[in-house]
Amino acid sequence: MLENIYEKIKAYDTVVIARHIGVDPDALGSQFALKTSIEKTFKNKKVYAVGAKSSKYNYFPKLDKYENTNKEALLIVVDTPDKKRIDITNLENYQEICKIDHHPFIEKFGECEYIKTDSSSASELILELILKNEMVLDSEIATYLFIGIVSDTNRFLFNTTYKTFEIIKNLVQKYNIDIESAYRNLYTRPISEIRFQGYISQNMHVTSNGLGYVIITNDIMQEYGVDASSAGNMVNNYNNIEEVIVWTTVSEDVKNKIVKFNIRSRGPVINTVAEKYNGGGHKFASGARVKNMEEAEELIQELDNLCKEYLEKEGK
Ligand code: AMP
Repeated sequence: MLENIYEKIKAYDTVVIARHIGVDPDALGSQFALKTSIEKTFKNKKVYAVGAKSSKYNYFPKLDKYENTNKEALLIVVDTPDKKRIDITNLENYQEICKIDHHPFIEKFGECEYIKTDSSSASELILELILKNEMVLDSEIATYLFIGIVSDTNRFLFNTTYKTFEIIKNLVQKYNIDIESAYRNLYTRPISEIRFQGYISQNMHVTSNGLGYVIITNDIMQEYGVDASSAGNMVNNYNNIEEVIVWTTVSEDVKNKIVKFNIRSRGPVINTVAEKYNGGGHKFASGARVKNMEEAEELIQELDNLCKEYLEKEGK
C-alpha cells in the first residue's frame, strides 16, 4: 500500500496534506515531514499542509491556504480515522484521497488507506513511506518526525517497542537532530499552565472505583488564562496515580457550545465508551464531545461503571 500511495504522489502535480481537528505535534510532524519530503523529492510539485493553526505549536512552519476549485489535487489525510475529524471541508473536491493512520479503523474514506494500529505514531508511518520509496530524508524532515514520535509516545511511555528506539536511534544518529531544542519546544509551558495544573491536582475527584475526573468550567479557564485545548492537554500529566485507573478532564468549550472530554486509561478499554459520546480514539487514550453538563455527568457515570467492571474482572 505504501508503494501505491507513493505512485499516487508521483502522479499528481498538486498534493494537499490534512490531519485531524484539535491539532497536536504528531499530526503536525507527520504533515510537515511529508510535505517537505515531497517538495524535496519532486521539485515541481505544489504541496500544501492545511488545517487550523495553533499558536502553541509555532515552532512548526506556517500552515498553507489551499483554494480548492479545480478538483485536480490528491488529498492525503494523516493521523485521522474518520471523515468527521478531518480538519478540512469539501472532501468531494479532491480527485483522490489517501489515508495514513495509526488509530483503530473507523471508516474508509479514500482510494488507498495505510493503517497500522501498532505504530507508535503517524510520524513513524510517514518515515516508513519515505524510506520504502527512497524519498528525501534530511535533518529538517527527521526533526519533524522526531518531534511527532516523542510527543505521541509521551517520551517513550506508550506504544513503544524496540522498533521505536531503533527508529529514533537511526534518526538521531544520521540526521544530527537538535534534541534539546526539540524537547524545549515541546515541553516549555507558561506559568499560567503550571498554576492551572495546581488547580486540577487540587480539584480532581477520585471515585472508589478508580475514576479520576475534574470539571473545568469556562470561568476557571478564564481565571487561569488557559483555553479549552490547553485544559484538555493537561490530562497527560496525571498518569500513574495509585488510586486512579481511568482519568479525564471535562472542559467547557463555550465557543463551540460543547463539553470536551480528554480521557486516559491504564487498564479499561475506553474508546468504545468514547465512541458512544461523539468521540473515539485509541484503546487507552480517547476523547469525546457532549452537548452539556447533564450529558457530561452521564459519561462520567459510564466511565466509573467501566472502572468498576474492570476491577471486578481483574478480581481487585
Ligand atoms: P486527545 O485527548 O485530544 O489527545 O485525544 C486522544 C485520542 O483520542 C487521539 O487519538 C484523538 O484523535 C482521539 N480523539 C479525541 N477527541 C476525539 C473525538 N471527539 N472523536 C474521535 N476521536 C477523538
